[in-house]
Amino acid sequence: MSAHVHRCAVVGAGLTGLVAAYRLASAGWKVTVFERYPEAGGLVASFTVGGERLECFYHHLFTTDTEIVALAAELELAPEIEWLPSRMGIYSQGRLWDFGTPASLLRFRPLPWLDKARFAASTLWLNRSADFRRFEEVTAREWIIAHAGRKAFDAVWGPLLHQKFAEKADEVAMVWLWGKVFLRGRSRSASGLGERLGYMNGSFARLVDALVARLRALGVRIELGNPVRRIWRSEDGLEVQARTGVERFETVLFTAAPAELSRVAGGQLPDADRARLDALSSTAALCVVLELSRSLTPYYWLNVADPAFPFGGLIEHTNYIPPQRYGGRRVLYISKYLFPENPLWNARDDEVWAAYRPFLQKVNPAFDDGWVLARHHFKAAYAQPVIPCHYGSLIPPFATSIPGLFHACMAQIYPEDRGQNYAVRSGDRAAAALLSLPGP
Ligand SMILES: Cc1cc2nc3c(=O)[nH]c(=O)nc-3n(C[C@H](O)[C@H](O)[C@H](O)COP(=O)(O)OP(=O)(O)OC[C@H]3O[C@@H](n4cnc5c(N)ncnc54)[C@H](O)[C@@H]3O)c2cc1C
Repeated sequence: MSAHVHRCAVVGAGLTGLVAAYRLASAGWKVTVFERYPEAGGLVASFTVGGERLECFYHHLFTTDTEIVALAAELELAPEIEWLPSRMGIYSQGRLWDFGTPASLLRFRPLPWLDKARFAASTLWLNRSADFRRFEEVTAREWIIAHAGRKAFDAVWGPLLHQKFAEKADEVAMVWLWGKVFLRGRSRSASGLGERLGYMNGSFARLVDALVARLRALGVRIELGNPVRRIWRSEDGLEVQARTGVERFETVLFTAAPAELSRVAGGQLPDADRARLDALSSTAALCVVLELSRSLTPYYWLNVADPAFPFGGLIEHTNYIPPQRYGGRRVLYISKYLFPENPLWNARDDEVWAAYRPFLQKVNPAFDDGWVLARHHFKAAYAQPVIPCHYGSLIPPFATSIPGLFHACMAQIYPEDRGQNYAVRSGDRAAAALLSLPGP
C-alpha cells in the first residue's frame, strides 16, 4: 500500500507562498504553486539596469530581520548580504536636511529648540518601549501631537504617515509608528556601528530564484501566468479554478490580498467573513525608477515633508550600493503610495512624469532632462496594509471558514510592519501550522 501524499495548492509566488511551498514540499507534500504573473517574486519583482538585476520597488533589510538572513543561509546566499551604511535626509521648507542622527536633529531648523527636545525625548521613549499594546488604541497623530508636539507632527511624522497611507494617514494607529521606531532603534544598536542596512548583492531576486530552483528540484509544479479565479469546496475536496482549468486539492494556502480572497472564494465564504476581508484597507505603490547620468542628492533615503509634492520619497539606491554595479548609472526611485482613486494611479507614464519632473528640480535645481538615461514605471495594487486602531481584532484569520482553505498574507503581519523578513516568517509559520494538522 502506498503512503498518502497530501495535495496542496499555494496561491501566489511571492516570498510568503514560495517559502511555504518550500517547507511543505520538503515535508513530502505534493505542491502546486499558482502565480498570476509570468514571474515569481511578487513585490520583490526585478528588472535590469546596466546589466545588473534591481528590484522594481526599493528593498533593504534591517539587522532585526533575522528570519530572512537565516533563510539566505539555508539557501547558501548568506555571504551575499552586505551590511552598508546609509544616509538619510528630509526635504523641508524648500531645502535638504540631514536626518536620523542626534547631530542632524540639532541642525534641523524646521523644528524650534523646545520641539527638538520633545521630539528626541519621545523618540527615545518609543525606542525603549517594548510593549506595543499601549499603542494599539490611539492614532499615531493623537499620540505624536500629545507627546512630541504639533510642530514635530507637522514637520516630520505627519508627512511620513502621509507618504505611506495617503488620505488614511490620520486613521493609522500609533502601534504602526512604534514598530518603525522601536525596530529601527534595535537595528541601529544591534549593528553597533550606527545604522547599517542589508542588501543582497545582485538583488533580492536571487533569493526568489534560489527558492524557485529548490522548489523545482523537489518536484513542485510552478504555474506562472496562471491566476486563480475561483476556489470552492466540493464533496471531494477543494476545487481551484485557474486560467488553465479546474484542479482538486486537499489543502489550499492563499497568500494574496484579503480582497482577492474575498473575490476568489467569496461564493462560499459567510457574508460576515467577506465583509471583514473587504473592510481591510491598503495603499497601492507607484514607483518611478530613473536611470541617471548624475546623482540627484547625497542621500540614500530622502523623505519629502512638503504637501505640495506629488510624491513622498526619493530613494537614491546608488548612494547606498555603488553605481559601478549598474554600469556607472545612478538609480533613483521616486516613491508614492496612494489609493486607486488618485488620478495618478491611472495616469499614463508620461503624465506621471510631467507631474513629477518640476519637483525634482526643486530638490536639485541643476536637475535637467538630459540626466535621464531611462525611466521605468512600476505599480503594485496591494502594497501596504493600513493599520487602524484595534487592528489586533481585525486581522484576517489563518483558517478560513471553508475547511482546508488557509490564508497567509501581509495583512496578518502585526505589530511589525510588513516586509520581506515577515513574509518569510509568515510562510514558515503557515507551513508549520499546516503540517501539524491531523492527517486524513
Ligand atoms: C514600494 C515597496 C517597498 C518595499 N520595501 C521593502 C524593504 O525595503 N524591505 C523589505 O523587507 N520589504 C519591503 N517591501 C515589502 C516586501 O516586498 C513585502 O512585504 C513582501 O515581498 C510580501 O511578500 P508576500 O508573498 O506576502 O506578498 P506578495 O509579494 O504581494 O505576493 C503575493 C503574490 O500573489 C499573487 N497573486 C495575487 N492574486 C493572485 C491570484 N488570484 N492567483 C494567483 N496569484 C495571485 C501576486 O501576483 C503576488 O505574486 C516593500 C514593498 C513595497 C511595495
